[in-house]
Amino acid sequence: MTSSPVRTEPWPEWPPPATDEQREALLAVLDSGRWGATDGPQVEEFAAAFAESTGAPHAVCTVNATVGLFLALRAVGVEPGDEVIVPAYTFVASATAVVLAGARPVFADVRPDTLLVDPDAAAALVGPRTGAVMAVHLSGAVADVGTPGVPVVEDAAQAHGAVRGGRAAGTWGDVACFSFQSSKAMTAGEGGVIVTGDRATYERLWSLHNVGRRLAGGWYEHPALGWNLRMTAFQAAVLRPQLAQLPGQIDRRTRSAAALAQALADVEGLSVRPAPPDTGRHTRHLALLRYDRAAFGGRTKEEFVVAMASEGIPLDAGYRSLSVEPSLAAYARPCPVAEAEAAATVWVRQNVLMADEDAMGDVARAARKVRDAFTRPV
Ligand SMILES: *Cc1c(COP(=O)(O)O)cnc(C)c1O
Repeated sequence: MTSSPVRTEPWPEWPPPATDEQREALLAVLDSGRWGATDGPQVEEFAAAFAESTGAPHAVCTVNATVGLFLALRAVGVEPGDEVIVPAYTFVASATAVVLAGARPVFADVRPDTLLVDPDAAAALVGPRTGAVMAVHLSGAVADVGTPGVPVVEDAAQAHGAVRGGRAAGTWGDVACFSFQSSKAMTAGEGGVIVTGDRATYERLWSLHNVGRRLAGGWYEHPALGWNLRMTAFQAAVLRPQLAQLPGQIDRRTRSAAALAQALADVEGLSVRPAPPDTGRHTRHLALLRYDRAAFGGRTKEEFVVAMASEGIPLDAGYRSLSVEPSLAAYARPCPVAEAEAAATVWVRQNVLMADEDAMGDVARAARKVRDAFTRPV
């Protein structure tokens, strides 16, 4: 494509520019000299505010969602040698957290439309060794949790603020983990939070992340085995004001995703994948697109992503199915839907969705131009 790109205007940055409130909160922690989770009130106050935003009564802040999932699995009783059912189309950390807990990920296939776990496929894998099922709320849509008869851990790393059937992400399983890594909807560069509705699970999580201490116990009293996986007060200071910003940002992305779906209606072979039924709020951490290579002259999604980039539209080729991920080959099992649909999926990231409706028109215009070029007879 030698013509001028469809779009030259820059896209919004993620994270958005820092606010005065964040700057002041961060400096207040710095000047206080009370930087650790156990030195000042910021981390516990943020945990309580985050829990409240989900409707779950308890939360523990931690260093990231990968170790958050590890802590969650341990807190619901997953032991070394257990199996944990994990959807095949997700970030690699959903599975490596299971390995970190000494357990074995067993990959469940996904639904062809939403790419969320297929609850029947997951239920069919539950057996005597199953320690937990992990429900991943991919792209900001709440997955079907089902009633597997074993503990459910929600991987809500992409789903801050998501709602389905009147219930928020974080209140569907026994315990749920959210991420504050730099690409996520709320971020401190790194960080995570684990929420639960169960007091005993909370006390185990708190102990596990705080070197085996017990609530209200002594500093050198370690009745359980645990690790230091605590968040800093700097992170809590940066995160706290974002709770109030989140709903407006989700609204912005929701309007853009709707505009994008509409703009793509007349681009054959490219569409926005649907939200699951009864979705109250899809947070549009990502808009997952279905890319039908047959309509694009047989070109792969990777070729499509490169061509779109040269038109000024940044897309992402996304994950491959974890069932074929080389580092997880020890756990490989066929997941035909995830493997096929991964090749037919491209992502629009949240920073692009933070742009307005007109910008979504640019995405569709670029896709049409790329398709014309891919299908032009040579
Ligand atoms: C980002 C992410 C994680 C890991 O979160 P970190 O905070 O980076 O460790 C886990 N699962 C999913 C689905 C994610 O998107």
